[in-house]
Amino acid sequence: MTMQALPARYRVTSRDAETHDTVTLALEPVDRPIGPHLPGQFTMLYAFGVGEVPISISGPAGLGLVQTIRSVGAVTRSLCGADRGHVVGVRGPYGTDWGVADAAGRDLVVVAGGIGLAPLRGALLAALAAREMYRRIVVLIGARSPEELVFAGELAAWRAGGADVLVTVDRATAGWTGHVGVVTQLIGPAQLDPAAALVLVCGPEVMMRLTARALREHGVPPGNIRLSLERNMRCGVAECGHCQLGPLLLCRDGPVVSYTRAAPLLSVREL
Ligand SMILES: Cc1cc2nc3c(=O)[nH]c(=O)nc-3n(C[C@H](O)[C@H](O)[C@H](O)COP(=O)(O)OP(=O)(O)OC[C@H]3O[C@@H](n4cnc5c(N)ncnc54)[C@H](O)[C@@H]3O)c2cc1C
Repeated sequence: MTMQALPARYRVTSRDAETHDTVTLALEPVDRPIGPHLPGQFTMLYAFGVGEVPISISGPAGLGLVQTIRSVGAVTRSLCGADRGHVVGVRGPYGTDWGVADAAGRDLVVVAGGIGLAPLRGALLAALAAREMYRRIVVLIGARSPEELVFAGELAAWRAGGADVLVTVDRATAGWTGHVGVVTQLIGPAQLDPAAALVLVCGPEVMMRLTARALREHGVPPGNIRLSLERNMRCGVAECGHCQLGPLLLCRDGPVVSYTRAAPLLSVREL
C-alpha cells in the first residue's frame, strides 16, 4: 500500500438518520485531514476490522466531511451504526467532480433517484451558496416512497434559497399529496431550457439511462448531461482494475462522466 493509500483517522461528530436504512455522518479529522474535495467526489471509508467501501461526499467543501450511507451489507451496516465519537478510516478524495461552475450564467439542473441525491447535495449546496451565478437551479427528486426520501427536512430551505424543487414518489403512502410516478415525469413540468441546462444525474443505473434518454427527447445535448457511474471499487487509485467500464477506470475517470462518453458504455452490466 502506498502512502497515498493509507487511511486517515476521522471521528464521527454527528449521526443523523435520513430513513430507516440511511444515515448521514459528519466526520472530523483526528490528526491529518485528507485533501480538499469537490462535489461529486468520493472517499474510501474504512470500518476498522470490517472493510472499506466507496462513499460519495454529500456535504459542502471544508475540513470536515459529510457522507450519507445506506446500509446494504457488512461494511455499510457497520458505518451506519457508527455513533458519535467512533473512529473510521478515510482515503481520498477520489474521482471526478460534477463541475458545477460550468453552469455559471446558465441553468443548473440536478436529477436524483433515491440515495443518488447524496452525491448531488454538495453540488446543490455549492450552487445555492453562489445563487447569483446561475439563472435557474432546478432539483428533480424521485424516491420509492415518501419514507425513503433522503434530506426531506432540507427541501424547504433549498426552495427558500432559490431552487425549484419537484419531488415524486413511486408509491404514495398515507398523507402524501405530491406527485406519484417516476422522476422522468418531472422533466416536462420543470420547463427546462434545453440549450441552457447543465444536467447532473445520479441514481440507479436504469434511472440514469431513462433520465438521459428523456432529457435527450427534451432537446438537451448529450454534452450537457453528466452522470455519476458506480462500479465495485477497491483501490480508488486506478491500480486494481475492479471498477473498469469499457476504456474507463471509474475511480479515476469517474464517477462523474459526460453522457457523451457514458452512453455507449451503459449497456455493459457489472459482473
Ligand atoms: C463512486 C461510488 C460512490 C458511492 N457512494 C455511495 C454513497 O454516497 N452512499 C451509499 O450508501 N453508497 C454509495 N456507494 C455504494 C457503496 O459503495 C456500496 O453500497 C458498498 O460498497 C456496499 O458494501 P457492503 O460491504 O456494505 O455490502 P456488500 O456486501 O458488498 O454488498 C451488499 C449488496 O449491495 C450491492 N452493492 C455493492 N456495491 C454496490 C454498488 N457500488 N452499487 C450498487 N450495489 C452495490 C451488492 O451487489 C450486494 O447486493 C457508492 C459506490 C461507488 C462506486
